[in-house]
Amino acid sequence: MASSNEPAAAPAPAGAPLDFIREIVAADRAAGGTVVTRFPPEPNGYLHIGHAKAICVDFGVAEEYGGRCNLRFDDTNPVKEDVEYVDSIKADVHWLGFDWAGREFYASDYYERLYEDAEGLIRRGVAYVDSHSADEIRAHRGTLTEPGTDSPYRTRGVDENLDLFRRMRAAEFPDGAHVLRAKIDMASPNINLRDPVLYRIRHAEHHRTGTAWCIYPMYDYAHPLSDAYEGVTHSLCTLEYEAHRPLYDWVVREARSAHTPRQIEFARLNLNYTVVSKRKLLQLVAQHHVAGWDDPRMPTISGLRRRGYTPESIRDFCARIGVAKKENVIDIGLLEACIREDLNVRAPRAMAVLRPLKVVLTNYPEGQSETLAVVNNPEDASAGTRDVAFSRELYIERDDFMEDPPKKFFRLAPGREVRLRNAYLVTCHEVVKDAAGAVVELRCTYDPATRGGDAPDGRKVKATLHWVSAAHAVDGEVRVYDRLFTAEQPESAAEKTGGTFLDLLNPDSLDVRTGCKLEAMLGDVPAGTRYQFERLGYFAADPDTRAGAPVFNRTVSLKDTWAKVAARDS
Ligand code: ATP
Ligand code: MG
Repeated sequence: MASSNEPAAAPAPAGAPLDFIREIVAADRAAGGTVVTRFPPEPNGYLHIGHAKAICVDFGVAEEYGGRCNLRFDDTNPVKEDVEYVDSIKADVHWLGFDWAGREFYASDYYERLYEDAEGLIRRGVAYVDSHSADEIRAHRGTLTEPGTDSPYRTRGVDENLDLFRRMRAAEFPDGAHVLRAKIDMASPNINLRDPVLYRIRHAEHHRTGTAWCIYPMYDYAHPLSDAYEGVTHSLCTLEYEAHRPLYDWVVREARSAHTPRQIEFARLNLNYTVVSKRKLLQLVAQHHVAGWDDPRMPTISGLRRRGYTPESIRDFCARIGVAKKENVIDIGLLEACIREDLNVRAPRAMAVLRPLKVVLTNYPEGQSETLAVVNNPEDASAGTRDVAFSRELYIERDDFMEDPPKKFFRLAPGREVRLRNAYLVTCHEVVKDAAGAVVELRCTYDPATRGGDAPDGRKVKATLHWVSAAHAVDGEVRVYDRLFTAEQPESAAEKTGGTFLDLLNPDSLDVRTGCKLEAMLGDVPAGTRYQFERLGYFAADPDTRAGAPVFNRTVSLKDTWAKVAARDS
């Protein structure tokens, strides 16, 4: 049976108190006008969980206040950007459950208009061409405690500036020969206002505009004007842009924009045991520390999707962390709790044995089998039941047996009776070993009077084990993941030791289990189908899965079994 359990839309949390952004937007909205926001990724990498927070804020706020949210690619850096990233970003935003309704924009679409506005700044005497090198500009910028010094080119006349700027565009100069700078204040306590560079020469091909341009606008110039051109009312971004806001406002004002968008900053999402920086994620991919951007260990949207996360669980996570002004680090356990909670009600149960140990029921007739009706999801009566085959030869989890158990081990051991989930009580009588002394088989008996798992005489057992019928099970591969990093905060931990975050990669983050024995129905399910494997966690079929050769990823362990499973796995 191939059951695809695709998610239904979850409602937004209602009745929650307004965060500071929604308070501002609500007040502005009350004063009239339509709310327009934008999500402005730079197409230089795949989206990660931090972007999910921004997407939920940008699209969420627009949706809640009857406005609209544009998807705008901030593609002003020709050398790092690529259409592969554009496509992945669109797919990820859609998958998360948001839609820009055709309002897909590119900063590069505005190059002509941005250029004209730059000429306007020159004509009004608030921008000039500086012929210093990047190093010289840096050297003159001053420090946090010392003012910068004016460039000798700062006093160039309007005509000369216009002429040079036009020739910059006309490809008359090599990279770095000139830049266009805003003429603001070299003594400003805010370094961003010390005559920031607005345009630089870069003889590079752009993924959308090709070789049409050899000068490219800087983010601090292109972003506010792109917002203004689109009539964005609330330009929501992360805290690192707070010190850029005076420049944002300066650009909008000096360009004589008809619209004056308002920039509002909120704290980035930081997650422990994770890095959320595209640059660092790119490093992991490029240096093959992971299999790709969608490696299930990656905190990318595509990695989380492949791992088995639902869009609802990620949106729920974003709603729970909320938006605030203060930086903090969120426990990755919260993200895991969100997916567990979602899958608990949504994922049908199945049985899978990751480290098989054969059990032969000596009193069960050879060649016989029976089917047991098993509840698909105790949390969802509408999920119904399925037939599971039971027979003389079974597999149980190797870790569920100990020949010489310590006091607190309640599972199977010689002479002990346990319950096989949904089936029968069984008792172990004999342990078969190979020449090297390793346990290869258990010989047990079952009690035919306990069908369904309960003894009519009321006797109790201390453990219930999952199992599969050997003749009916399908062989599969299961990939079990652990944290990608061993340190809670890989970046700051690496700084302290003088190393890099790569030194803190967890060498055991991927554990590929082959030769797993899976319940027959798992043998042919579409990629992305999610299950709870009883007692083991939540799992999703990987894109590598094939009919008859299933491959599953462990999305997350079951609640409060993390420590136990980890200990048993070691
Ligand atoms: P990175 O540091 O990962 O490269 P970025 O800010 O450079 O991120 P952009 O593509 O410019 O990446 O980001 C698009 C939007 O997502 C921006 O508005 C940015 O503020 C927001 N964003 C990026 N990272 C986070 C994060 N960790 N938490 C919340 N929002 C984020
Ligand atoms: Mg950025």
